[in-house]
Amino acid sequence: MTGPLRSHHGGDLGFLKRHNRSVILETVRRAPGVTRADVAVRTGLTKATVGAIVQELLNREWLREGALQQSGGGRPGRSLHPDASRHVLLGVDIGVKSLRLIACSLTGEPLIQHHIEQVPTTPEETATTLTEHIRTMLADDAVRDRHCLGMGVTLPGPVSPDRPLLRLAPNLGWRDVPFLELLKPLLPQVTGHWLLDNEANAAAFGEYYFHPGLLPDSLVYLSASTGIGSGLVTGDGHVPIVSRGRGGLVGEIGHTILQPGGLYCHCGNRGCAETLVSGWAIRAALNIPADRSVAETLRPRLNEPEVALTLRRAGEALGMLLLNLHHTLNPPEIVIGGSLAGLGDALLAPALAYFEQHRNGLLDTTGQVTVRVLEDSTFTAARGAAAEVMARAVQAP
Ligand SMILES: [Zn+2]
Repeated sequence: MTGPLRSHHGGDLGFLKRHNRSVILETVRRAPGVTRADVAVRTGLTKATVGAIVQELLNREWLREGALQQSGGGRPGRSLHPDASRHVLLGVDIGVKSLRLIACSLTGEPLIQHHIEQVPTTPEETATTLTEHIRTMLADDAVRDRHCLGMGVTLPGPVSPDRPLLRLAPNLGWRDVPFLELLKPLLPQVTGHWLLDNEANAAAFGEYYFHPGLLPDSLVYLSASTGIGSGLVTGDGHVPIVSRGRGGLVGEIGHTILQPGGLYCHCGNRGCAETLVSGWAIRAALNIPADRSVAETLRPRLNEPEVALTLRRAGEALGMLLLNLHHTLNPPEIVIGGSLAGLGDALLAPALAYFEQHRNGLLDTTGQVTVRVLEDSTFTAARGAAAEVMARAVQAP
């Protein structure tokens, strides 16, 4: 983690204060139970600065005090914890086949989760439908009396890095949609920060932000659903940073070419990874009706030779993507989520086997890469969007 800033570069004391506030909150989030003295030691800030900022975070009800703790040989101090009781963060994930909504606490604990099986139609209709569900959620006893810090919305396509504009969601048929401009006026009761992000980017952010235990330097989230995408988060700052690129295309691995001259993809190119491994490619290969879930349809049929062969080939393509991520980004941890992960070993075993066989070809020892498969990632992107709201709120004046 980056340490606190002490120099008054540019004289921006507001920036300095926000930065130190963020560093202190992150320190307590990562090690709940620390005292003010512990925080001062860990951050290198003076006890006076820590005391003032902790008091501000207590007043805002972002932190709470716990029992007296002995620390560092000095006087005992009150333990500090994130206050999960007062605020609510909202996250919405607009998928190709469903809408997922979450309301969670500052510690990422879900208070309410709604999964609505519904194919989004137009952006306008989707905004109207979401509004009804969000109003219902806000009226629920679990969140009604909490202070809302904001709402993050994700979509399955690249989002402009400098403004909340969906550039293209090929599997929804949406292009250049300023989605928050449609949704925000319908929900004046949602206070705080609003943001729009790509689904895999938000999922990666959340997996990093709420990561248990030792934090890796970076993390890649690979989203395998109707389409294939990924998000890269690096942790060299006190708040994780999502790589976005010039136009928001970082991580669009579903449209990297695995088979020159192969089948046509929704993006117009040929031989993209999505033509080999994606919900839509598997659906087309096995004639699964559009209104049926690929994973649920295939789970009882995994022993059929045609199904097994299709998933094995798709799994090998997924393994190639893992290998390409390893060789281009070399993250210490890769997390696989998305509805296709529900196909289990039929898809994942050939993917992981391919990765295992090839990943040390370039260097004999590249170190162990942790590959983690999420059994249920239904709300991963929505929770990640909520985490992004929290990170933004911490940094706000
Ligand atoms: Zn493509």
